[in-house]
Amino acid sequence: MPVVSKKSSARAPRRRVEPELIFGDLWEFDPAPESADPKLRASYGLFIGGKFVAPQSGRTFTSINPGTGQPLAEIALAGSAEVDAAYRAATKAFSPWARLPGAERGKYLYRIARILQDRAREFAVAETLDGGKPIKESRDFDVPMAAAHFFYHAGWADKLAYVFPGATPQPHGVVGQVIPWNFPLLMLAWKIAPALATGNTVVLKPAETTSITALKFAEVLQEAGLPAGVVNIVTGAGETGAAVVNHPAAAKVAFTGSTEVGKRIMRSTAGTGKKLTLELGGKAANIVFEDAPLDQAVEGIVNGIFFNQGHVCCAGSRLLVQESIAAGVLQRLRHRVQVLRVGNPMDKNTDIGAINSREQLDRITALVKAGVAEGAEMFQPPIALPRQGYYFRPTLFSGVEQSHRIAREEIFGPVLSILTFRTVAEAVEKANNTAYGLSAGVWTEKGSRILKLSTELKAGVIWANTFNKFDPTSPFGGYKESGFGREGGKQGLADYVKLT
Ligand code: NAD
Repeated sequence: MPVVSKKSSARAPRRRVEPELIFGDLWEFDPAPESADPKLRASYGLFIGGKFVAPQSGRTFTSINPGTGQPLAEIALAGSAEVDAAYRAATKAFSPWARLPGAERGKYLYRIARILQDRAREFAVAETLDGGKPIKESRDFDVPMAAAHFFYHAGWADKLAYVFPGATPQPHGVVGQVIPWNFPLLMLAWKIAPALATGNTVVLKPAETTSITALKFAEVLQEAGLPAGVVNIVTGAGETGAAVVNHPAAAKVAFTGSTEVGKRIMRSTAGTGKKLTLELGGKAANIVFEDAPLDQAVEGIVNGIFFNQGHVCCAGSRLLVQESIAAGVLQRLRHRVQVLRVGNPMDKNTDIGAINSREQLDRITALVKAGVAEGAEMFQPPIALPRQGYYFRPTLFSGVEQSHRIAREEIFGPVLSILTFRTVAEAVEKANNTAYGLSAGVWTEKGSRILKLSTELKAGVIWANTFNKFDPTSPFGGYKESGFGREGGKQGLADYVKLT
């Protein structure tokens, strides 16, 4: 339970005070910093052939702690020579790994999952320092879910014949994987666990602002005794990513990131014979009907957009609320965002941590300015932000029209655009009026309406009376410009095998 202390009894008010004033003016949480040692190195090499190696060029870049704006570690920058070395190591490791009985591959995956659990606190701190997300999220979501993906896929490694009855599943070969910065360790787990379970070997590139947990994961692989070259991790920015994607030894490419880069990858892999899966951006509609349980819905809306500072591909960034209840929902939301705690990501009571990078903060700021300029009404609670690091207040926009940029573009920050509708048909029409199709939420008491909308909404994942629920057994992926292919579940395994 959080410790709550009262700042000053001298100011105790006699007049009737709204709850938000009590929290905002008089009550303060004591600091509750997480103190575990993240066991960071001052510098990290590339992980190739089971060892950390320095790049031939000697080039490095600095990973910044977005919570403070201070440097965290020096990271090796891989050029095409290093990416080539990683593919050579993965190609050499492929046949022995693919020939291992599934039960033996499964043992490695179990071992990796157990080590992640053993080192969970250390990984949670490293993830928060490097990426800016609140420690309670890294601790309770990112790290346990990453371990869960390895456990889940460990279980499938010797049972693939049951997933594809009547066919013989074969691995593709070496898989090139590129991931984003919003869930660094978890996206790595989504990619590496199914690839290894199905007998592929891997060259993975983490995002340039969040390489550290991928490199710590390489230590886990060493601890687990994974054969050299089965997983190789190369670090760098877009150029390194392009080298991973375009390497001729890649039999399959798996990419998670922006739609813009996804389109570029689709063009560059077209005609190469490489199997491709793309997990891209989103602009999800979270639809609230007048019969919804409102307190629960408001919590779902808040979780839907402010979880991980809104750096979530499936964030419920467009709230569609039935006109008859719109004013009441907005009032509750304004009330609720005033008591969100924004600040030090390492504090266990923080709800909204740091924006991942200066660049992302600038992008969010520009889109919010566009929302104001286009005529939407903005509400931001008067929360004091830390002076150092990259922070943004939770932001609500009401009176948003479908043509506004904040209704169409992925902001990828703690910014909610609120639109209204009158009928079910209008809700569906507005929800689908987007280039994306990753996720959606429906809040209503009527089961029949949920079933109807689940067929009419063009989104890969649809949550009913909840939001942002994930499980390794459940496939995740998009429609339209949100990409294709699935991660998780049996469907996710299918993207890592050829059937003969
Ligand atoms: P991004 O596309 O800028 O970068 C993603 C990764 O691609 C990074 O590792 C980057 O270095 C690399 N990259 C950049 N240019 C490249 C190129 N030309 N070739 C190959 N690799 C290249 O995206 P981001 O800003 O890191 O991440 C945010 C985006 O990711 C958002 O759009 C979000 O919706 C999306 N995302 C989607 C999912 C999903 O499952 N659908 C999950 C998480 C994030």
